[in-house]
Amino acid sequence: MNNSKDSIKDSVKNIVFQPRVLVVDDEVRIQEVCHRLLTEEGCDVEVAENGIKGLKMIEEKHFDIILLDLMMPGMSGLDVLTDVKSRHPDTVVIVITGYATLEHSIETMKKGAFDFLSKPFSPQQLRVVISKAIEFIHTLQDIATEKSRMRVMINTLNNGVLTTDNQKRIALANPAFLKMIGCRKKSVIGHTVSEFIKDPRLLDMIDQAIEQPEDIFAEITDEITMPTSTKKDDMIIGVRCIPFRDRLKRNLGSITVFNDITALKKIDQLKSDFVSMVAHEIKSPLNSILMQLNIVLDGLAGELTDKQKEILQKSSNRVKSLTALSTELLDISKIESGLINQEREELDLIELIKDQVVLYRDQANSKSIHLIIKKTRKEIRMMGNRTNIEEVISNLISNAIRYSPDGGKITVLADEKSDCAKIMVSDTGFGIPQKELEHIFDKFFRVKNEKTRHINGTGLGLAIVKNVVEAHHGTIEVESEVDKGTCFSIYFPKSKYKI
Ligand code: ADP
Repeated sequence: MNNSKDSIKDSVKNIVFQPRVLVVDDEVRIQEVCHRLLTEEGCDVEVAENGIKGLKMIEEKHFDIILLDLMMPGMSGLDVLTDVKSRHPDTVVIVITGYATLEHSIETMKKGAFDFLSKPFSPQQLRVVISKAIEFIHTLQDIATEKSRMRVMINTLNNGVLTTDNQKRIALANPAFLKMIGCRKKSVIGHTVSEFIKDPRLLDMIDQAIEQPEDIFAEITDEITMPTSTKKDDMIIGVRCIPFRDRLKRNLGSITVFNDITALKKIDQLKSDFVSMVAHEIKSPLNSILMQLNIVLDGLAGELTDKQKEILQKSSNRVKSLTALSTELLDISKIESGLINQEREELDLIELIKDQVVLYRDQANSKSIHLIIKKTRKEIRMMGNRTNIEEVISNLISNAIRYSPDGGKITVLADEKSDCAKIMVSDTGFGIPQKELEHIFDKFFRVKNEKTRHINGTGLGLAIVKNVVEAHHGTIEVESEVDKGTCFSIYFPKSKYKI
């Protein structure tokens, strides 16, 4: 008994407000017992002696729980129940009945009763049933609070949010999303997405999310361009789409988040344009300085002392590094502004690696590095941009030579598998510390330690490599161990490179 007494008190305590209970019963004894007991338990209790009066009180103020007698003179308890449930669905109705048969129970349950109390009932039975009702209200409140919090959050987000069910009908669309698509309609809920979204890529992303098999949970991301009615320029939107599932991992629908990245893209474009302009502008004066230095170095402007020669040689080397930097800056800004890949032709990867190895043979020999091509196939065909793929191979071989001590070994190979073409360049050089590996494809990133400090570089080579590989729909991987060596592997998917 104590247990149940405690539990009803706890339920009342947990609930933020005092539960309001209305007892609708013509029996004065029942009214009194319920009133006294529930008041003691912390509820705010009122009574009505018949259905009509009860309904009037319910209209005037909200009750959380109604204890309702079924057998009353005048309006029947069942009619009161029907009325309350149709107008106040959140109100919990507990039916008090003198004849709790099964059919009767089913009928009242169908009409929305929460539970029963059969007359005569003990205080203990009343406490148990009220306690259950309070728990239920508590859960409903939690759900309602959570829903309202989510709604406010989603509605105030700057990002657009669109949720669909698995039939691609809109279940939620926040104001930011409606603004992005220029939709002024108040209610889009229940309409199919294709009525409002015309971009085939976006519709395809939602399809993919909804059809995602249960063992995969992948975010589908893309950038799309949306025309705007008000602004002159199109909007660039970063889109992320994922499925949402029930406990049995069945797809219930999709959630898509839209992020307006137009401003970021513009800044990025400005930055690339600026870098490319600067690089271009300094390249020609640098070339002219280099030519003049060479004239002097060759003795065409008079005899030079050894010291003068040494100083001029150093200057010439610095100018060459600057020229290399501006070339790489130009390359990367071209890549970033999407100017690569436009001319594609049929390439043979075996031939390309052979050509590049020939070009680097002398440099490798000067460090007694054994540069070899591992034999795989006679030819490997793919569609690609010749200059860019040559640059990728050249950068990897050049790095392997530069970041290896004298006497190392470099292996280059191209191979083909059922689903991809592969290029691999591995060396037995200085290696890259694990914590630095994730950064080596970042622009301007260079590993700095005692062994590499004196090696000149720009930190742009691998950024260019990665960009080119991705523009060819490929992926690049790196494995490395300090003082053991480094291995770069590139994979081009067959579906994309096939001619
Ligand atoms: P750069 O060589 O001009 O510095 P990269 O972008 O080509 O720029 O390379 C970035 C950094 O990654 C290099 O500075 C170097 O520290 C490291 N790295 C690249 N390739 C290798 C390699 N084969 N072995 C060891 N370290 C390497």
